[in-house]
Amino acid sequence: MPLTPRPEDGAAALLSPGVSRLLVLALVVGVTGVDVARSAGAETYTYDRRLGVVARAALAHASPKTPFRFVLRAYVRCYRDKRSFEEAYTRRSGESAGRVVAYYAGDGDVHLRNGTCRNVRAFLAGRRTVYTAGAFSILLHEALHRQGVRNERTTTCLANDAVRWGAGWLASSEAQSLRARNLAFTYTRLFAPPSYRMGKPDCLALARRKDWPAFARGGAAAER
Ligand SMILES: [Zn+2]
Repeated sequence: MPLTPRPEDGAAALLSPGVSRLLVLALVVGVTGVDVARSAGAETYTYDRRLGVVARAALAHASPKTPFRFVLRAYVRCYRDKRSFEEAYTRRSGESAGRVVAYYAGDGDVHLRNGTCRNVRAFLAGRRTVYTAGAFSILLHEALHRQGVRNERTTTCLANDAVRWGAGWLASSEAQSLRARNLAFTYTRLFAPPSYRMGKPDCLALARRKDWPAFARGGAAAER
């Protein structure tokens, strides 16, 4: 569907320590093939342009040989509340949102719960916890789906690795960036379903071998 971004700067968002609990038992899914009443969600979310900019930069830095223009923009929808996220998800998928914390539905948009967006903003503000690093990785996971990466286990791995490069782009030191990446791995280990998990050593070996474009749809190496 054509994109009509409504950028919104979420810079003023305040952080709540309780937000992170919303992400417990998180599940990240992709939804495909279902179109919906596009206007229905118009008032129930805002686009956070800054999150899209950071996601794109993180993925660009995770693959330095890829020209920046080849990294597709993702338009990040931050839903107003639990109900608006879940209703929009159910309209698309016909299923209960349950433990879904974010999803990608095949166009330029990625869809995040309000608590996920708040935790990403907390990460950007320098608060580094399992939950904020996990939320940043969730954003990157959906942004990787936008690039055409499909396999969930691979996507989660590449997103966790990209947390490191995103943190570096945000001017974190190498040590801080590696710590953020490790926090994201911890989040995955604690909360992601098995079908989304890859052991950290296996993942790091994979990420060292190939940058994420190799796994994108039409990428040279495909997933083996
Ligand atoms: Zn996914």
